[in-house]
Parts: sequence; structure tokens; C-alpha cells
Amino acid sequence: MKAEIIAIGSELTCGARLDTNSQWLSRELEARGWTVQRHTTVADDREAMVRIYQEAAQRSRVVLVTGGLGPTLDDITRDTLAEAFGQDLVEDEDSLRHIEALFSSRGRQMPERNRVQALRPEFASVLHNAHGTAPGILLQLSRPACTIGVMPGVPAEMRRMFHEQLVRELPVSDVFVRRSVIRTFGFGESDAERLLGDLTARGRNPEVGITASDAVISLSVTARAGSEAECELLAAAVRDQIREKLGDAVFGEGEVELHHAVADQLLHRDLKIALLEGPTTGGLIGQWLTETEEIARRLAYSRLFPTSSSMVQGRASSPDLNGAWEQALREHGEKLLTERTADFVLLSSPSTLAVDSSGVRKQHGSIVLLGTDIDQSQDVSMTGNLDVFRSRAARMALNQLRLHLLKAR
Ligand code: ATP
Repeated sequence: MKAEIIAIGSELTCGARLDTNSQWLSRELEARGWTVQRHTTVADDREAMVRIYQEAAQRSRVVLVTGGLGPTLDDITRDTLAEAFGQDLVEDEDSLRHIEALFSSRGRQMPERNRVQALRPEFASVLHNAHGTAPGILLQLSRPACTIGVMPGVPAEMRRMFHEQLVRELPVSDVFVRRSVIRTFGFGESDAERLLGDLTARGRNPEVGITASDAVISLSVTARAGSEAECELLAAAVRDQIREKLGDAVFGEGEVELHHAVADQLLHRDLKIALLEGPTTGGLIGQWLTETEEIARRLAYSRLFPTSSSMVQGRASSPDLNGAWEQALREHGEKLLTERTADFVLLSSPSTLAVDSSGVRKQHGSIVLLGTDIDQSQDVSMTGNLDVFRSRAARMALNQLRLHLLKAR
């Protein structure tokens, strides 16, 4: 069954604030078997809002709206909703009492302006807001058949109202939807599509979607069926096929990151790692590997060498400063291994920016994995800004270690 979400507020459309409510609500609806077919973000504009509610109600069985329920003049969600469906606004006594009580519990008298928050379209009911002054609105339309749930914009209030008040009012979907995600590293989106072949064709159930972010390719597997167990069965079969086709490129499921996968492997084998990071990764691996105390326990040693002077004092006259720098890092790493400070050392080199004849700017650097049975270096070279280059290099370094640990199993 189809649902859609409308986020209201000029602070969203002008870019001052990100619409996180729609993302959260989509996940909640999808988990309950609804297909969210559209998000609309609209400024506090009367005409646009009226039209958008009317169109959404024609298209979707459930429409969720957030924002614009405050007491100020630009909060026009109540008025426009009433106008869109030809209803008058009436004062809701319980809401008014609640708002007055909330103010008096704070030792204040309710400002007259807040009275508007107790208004609702005449044939709507109120969604109680135990945590704020903006009650929500529930409007059940019969022609077109549509349930409209309006909630405050404040994310914490919206979430509680959704769970505590709105969920039980929504029609029950006859379809279960389960979405799982497989995370991979080591190839691009189009390679993934080629390797997966028919699995990514539209209209299949489960549906496989491909998204890329920071060089990690995520494959979402969305299964739809009459029961949760059936969904899981369908999804598990497709996940197995994906794993078979993509092999070691798969590093985990859900929201797992590469550094979590590496930390897990190190933990299982009781191994430790040392980091010597030059500008190619710029301290990013160290940052990730200190994300939680448990992960940080795998980190025996970590140093950042942001400039050549921090590593190669006395060698600054070398004709190949970067080469000398990298060599010094390598010697340092080998010493850490000999002293048994760590089982592996990841190091990253200085980075250089080169501009080719057509003006394309490219960052270059290298990453090295050292261990008692491995000395593997990889060049990293890419266009784009330094942040993107660093996060790609840091992930390549972690992936290098992950693959080595998998092989050594
Ligand atoms: P209030 O009574 O607090 O004014 P409201 O329903 O009128 O509630 P808004 O005034 O639109 O809500 O927004 C209140 C706060 O919630 C603001 O900080 C706003 O940036 C934030 N907010 C509103 N909509 C969203 C959204 N879609 N995603 C994330 N934050 C939002």
C-alpha cells in the first residue's frame, strides 16, 4: 500500500535545516509494509500546501505531515489542512486544557497566541502531545480513502507521537516488507551491476538496489511477502546469491563500516595493529579505530605525521623528500614489528597534488601494510578534493588488511 510524507517549513527548503523527519518516517513505514512513494518538502506557502495535501490524498492511502504546528503566524499547517478538505477550524477543548496546563507547570500563563495550537479541522481528531505544546492532527478521509497524520516538526516530539499515538490509527498493511543491506568494497557501481546480472533487474522480488558512498557499495535487498518469515526466506536466498557472486568484496551487513569488520577480525584472533599515518590518510584510520573503546583495544600504537619535518628531520635536504619521508615511516613500522608492539602496521605516505596538461588535479599517495609475513604497498591516485582522497585511501588500507586476514584464516 502506498504512503507519502510531506515536510513543512521554509527552514527546510532554504537549506538551513535538513529534513530528517521524512527519512525516519520512511523507515518506520517501510518496516510496517508500506511503500513510501514520495517525499515532498514545502515552504510555509499557503497555496502550495493546500495543493500538495489534496494531490497526496488522491495518490496515497497514508499521508504523514510534519512541521508548521507552532503558534506563530508562519505556522499554517492547521489552517491549510482545513482549507484543503473544505472544513472549518474548531477549538479542541482537551488540547487547550493541555496547553494551558503545560504553561502553568512551567510557572507561566499561556500567551494568547498559543491558543491557535488547540485548533483542528472540524472532522479531525487530535493526536495528544505529552511532550510539547503542539498537538498533532488525525484526519480520516473516506473519498479519497486516505489517513492523514500531522505531527510536530521537532524530531523528538514527532517520533514519540508516531509511536505512541499514530501507529495504532494507521490501516494495517497486508504486505510485509523487509529491507536488508549488504556492504561491499573493492569495485564500482557499474561493476557491481555487471557481476550481479539479473539480480538487479527492476520489478523483481526481492528487489536489489545499488548505492555508492565513499567507495563503499551497498546492496539493499527489499523483500515483500505475506508474512515476515516469507520475506526473510526470500531475502536470505538473494543475499546468499550476492555473497556468492561478489565473494570477499562483501565485508558485512546493515550499517557496518570497514573498520568494524577489521576490528572484528583482529579481535577474534587477538591481534593488534599500529598506525603511522602521513597526509595520504591524514589520521582518518586512527580516528575510526578509536571510535569505541572496544575497537581501540586493537590499536597498539598510532601516530600522525602531518608534515615532512615531523618525520624526516635532518633529511630535509634529500632530493626526494617524499621518498625519504616514506622510507622513514617504513623503518619506524619495521621497528614496531620487531619489538612486537603490534602484529601489523598500516602506514600511509605523504600526498602530492599534480595538475596534468588539461588542468585536471590529481592527488597521489600510497598505503603500505607491514606484518611478519606481508609487505604490501598500494598506490592511491584520484581526482577530487583531499577529503575524498583520504577517505578512499583509508578504506583501501583497511580493506588490504581485511583481505590479508581473510586469506590467512
Ligand atoms: P513548534 O511548536 O516547536 O514550533 P512545529 O510543528 O511548528 O513545532 P517547526 O516550527 O516547523 O515545528 O519546527 C520545530 C523544530 O523542528 C525546528 O528546529 C525545525 O528545524 C525542526 N524540524 C522541523 N521539521 C523538521 C524536519 N522535517 N526534519 C528535521 N527537523 C525538523
